Amino acid sequence: MVANIYFGSQETSRQELTQRVSPYSGEVVSKAPICSAEDAQKALLIAKEAAKEARKSTISQRCSWLLDVAQRLRDKKEDIARTITDEVGKPIAFSRIEVERCIETVTLCAETMRTMHGETINTDAMPSGKKTTAFFLRESAGVVVAITPFNFPLNLVAHKLAPALVAGNAVVLKPTPEAPLTAYKFAKLFIESPYAIKDALSVVYGDADVGGALVSSDIPRVISFTGSVPVGNIIAKSAGIKKVSLELGGNAATYIDESADLDLAASKCAIGAFVNSGQVCISLQRIYVNAKIYDEFAQKMTEHTKKLVVGSPYDDDTFMGPLIDDEACKRAMGWVESAIKEGATAMLPPRVDGRLFYPCVMADVRDDMAIVCEEVFAPIVSLVRVESFDDALPRINNSPYGLQFSIFTNNLSLTKRAIYELDAGGVVINDMPTLRFDIQPYGGVKLSGVGREGPRFAIEEMSEIKSVVIC
Ligand code: NAD
Repeated sequence: MVANIYFGSQETSRQELTQRVSPYSGEVVSKAPICSAEDAQKALLIAKEAAKEARKSTISQRCSWLLDVAQRLRDKKEDIARTITDEVGKPIAFSRIEVERCIETVTLCAETMRTMHGETINTDAMPSGKKTTAFFLRESAGVVVAITPFNFPLNLVAHKLAPALVAGNAVVLKPTPEAPLTAYKFAKLFIESPYAIKDALSVVYGDADVGGALVSSDIPRVISFTGSVPVGNIIAKSAGIKKVSLELGGNAATYIDESADLDLAASKCAIGAFVNSGQVCISLQRIYVNAKIYDEFAQKMTEHTKKLVVGSPYDDDTFMGPLIDDEACKRAMGWVESAIKEGATAMLPPRVDGRLFYPCVMADVRDDMAIVCEEVFAPIVSLVRVESFDDALPRINNSPYGLQFSIFTNNLSLTKRAIYELDAGGVVINDMPTLRFDIQPYGGVKLSGVGREGPRFAIEEMSEIKSVVIC
């Protein structure tokens, strides 16, 4: 029940602990040490030394390390899934899915690293060049700082630890304060592996104080951050000269064309808008529906939404558990109420019971209402009637965010237009924008961030290219 600090391989307990309470029951579910900026510095110094050893290790050893972690995670699946549910209130069926995804992420990073290599360069290809032996290779970057959010407290840690360590770096992890035990249990698998590189992974806990100290230090060469835009902004300003990868917020949208399979679209949209109670960076928030099929789609969407089971995250059948805290409930309800005051209609009326926020479908919204233009991060979706794709396109793109958008259509030319004209890091055809395969490049444009995750792309971000010429 208590997470410990890892100063490298050295596990350290503390008397002074923070308590994490379940967002569902309010019971204490885990405790974590209170860390300071000095602890962050200590972990960084250990990582700096460990990075030298990590660089000398072989890819084969590091791949064996990750595959061993994946195997032992399989054995601990139920325990870690339960810890996720305890700490962030994710329904248990989805916590199990998160563990399975995490196993795949770690495995994919090992498999990818085995075949990532440099290339030869033809220096005689330019008129001014001459024949040489030239090539580039990849080297580890050094120390990587990983800072992670609450909504996928395991798999988003995996998307940082696995590529960073397999690329030969040392890592200091500062997980979300909402799920310290999940991160600790995962880190323990790395640290206790017989293939581990000594001291290559440290874990410290805290919030802005500890995170800020890690980011502004001169020791790390890479900051890999996933979280909100305001914190991403602070990090971008304080990091200085180092690689910074920012996976930030979104405001995902879709367009439902008159040619679409409406049953498919409605069932997918209900999942995309409400899975994890809307606490997903690519949660579907805006649905632009062609006027010709608007009423039919709205009815189907409402029917699918009504079937979603809201309740205890410990029940196998629950689709939506609680929001992360009271503040999230208050903010989301405030935005819905002010939209209603300004003329919006609730097709499924807003309802909160404790921290259970029931799925809310809104219509008659305006583009400048907070539920439409801000990142709601709660189970609220807005339906917008549009005349055509040309009507929807500028409204979808006119968002400061650009993580993922989607379209439901059976029209090939519209499909092609959506691929090229939707302004986002990812475009999905005939599914929710909430779709992510862990093998894909993943990241956003505009305020949604800088850089890409996904095994190959994260390894690229967390390594350096060295160019070599032998004359
Ligand atoms: P958050 O920004 O509040 O916190 C994220 C992490 O940053 C936490 O570990 C927190 O302790 C740390 N932190 C806070 N202040 C800091 C500072 N000054 N310096 C360094 N670290 C600091 O985010 P959250 O509420 O945990 O997560 C929700 C947000 O994350 C949403 O905006 C969501 O869209 C985004 N998110 C993005 C992706 C993606 O891949 N693009 C994935 C998941 C979540």
